[in-house]
Amino acid sequence: MKLFNLAGKSAIVTGAARGLGQAIAIGLAEAGADLVLVTNQSAADETKQQIEQLGRKAIIVKADVSDQAQLAGIIEQAKQAYGRIDILVNNAGIIRRTPAVDYSFADWQAVLSTNLDSVFTLSQLAGKEMIEQGSGKIINIASMLSFQGGINVPAYTASKHAVAGLTKALANEWASKGVQVNAIAPGYMATDNTAALRADEVRSKQILERIPAMRWGNNEDLKGAAVFLSSQASDYVNGHVLCVDGGWMNR
Ligand code: NAD
Repeated sequence: MKLFNLAGKSAIVTGAARGLGQAIAIGLAEAGADLVLVTNQSAADETKQQIEQLGRKAIIVKADVSDQAQLAGIIEQAKQAYGRIDILVNNAGIIRRTPAVDYSFADWQAVLSTNLDSVFTLSQLAGKEMIEQGSGKIINIASMLSFQGGINVPAYTASKHAVAGLTKALANEWASKGVQVNAIAPGYMATDNTAALRADEVRSKQILERIPAMRWGNNEDLKGAAVFLSSQASDYVNGHVLCVDGGWMNR
């Protein structure tokens, strides 16, 4: 299991208080990493406790990733805590649903600044550290809407297509410097992010019918992909968008 061992590695996960980010943070800790848990309003105490129970370290950094002015502080606090940054998981994200004709520019900007601008700047800041140390792993959380258009979510779709593109662009520049940049595209997962979809009986049924695995994904389903892309096992994997979707994209 040496290939997947993250002992001695430090990892930043944004949006780590709940949902997919919480599971990814715990999954990395189970593989041996120490964590920086970035969160905006929601308390990440539960995630921290679970990580500490595993015998790993965790610090909580309160920050709003949609505010560019707060991003350098995240990297600084991570460096202060662990001396280096080995893994960055850009997970924090929001979705706002409105038909495109009525979509407000305020919603557009809120979604793009959270889902895309933060990914660029945090990757740039962490990437500089990683290039200097000659190694590092960046994992961006993409979506099925990195490939498809979705309905009533134009800003989210634009942001997630851009996250896939940015992943490839950064991977190309940094692969030769020992830094791997990849993305995970979760399928339809049962989290707060999809509560509205699951509450809509018609859409919920349509979605389920298209998933070959015949179930919504759960948070645990992302742990394996996150550990793989954070570990030595993926050292020759660059700019890949790994679907963890129960087969949705094949259909
Ligand atoms: P969620 O709403 O349960 O969790 C999102 C997390 O991000 C929360 O902890 C929230 O506090 C944090 N966050 C939001 N805005 C923030 C900000 N400005 N600053 C700091 N933290 C912020 O959603 P989730 O389903 O766990 O989503 C996590 C990621 O996975 C998102 O990028 C989302 O787009 C993506 N995703 C989710 C699904 C799904 O089916 N749930 C599918 C594909 C992609």
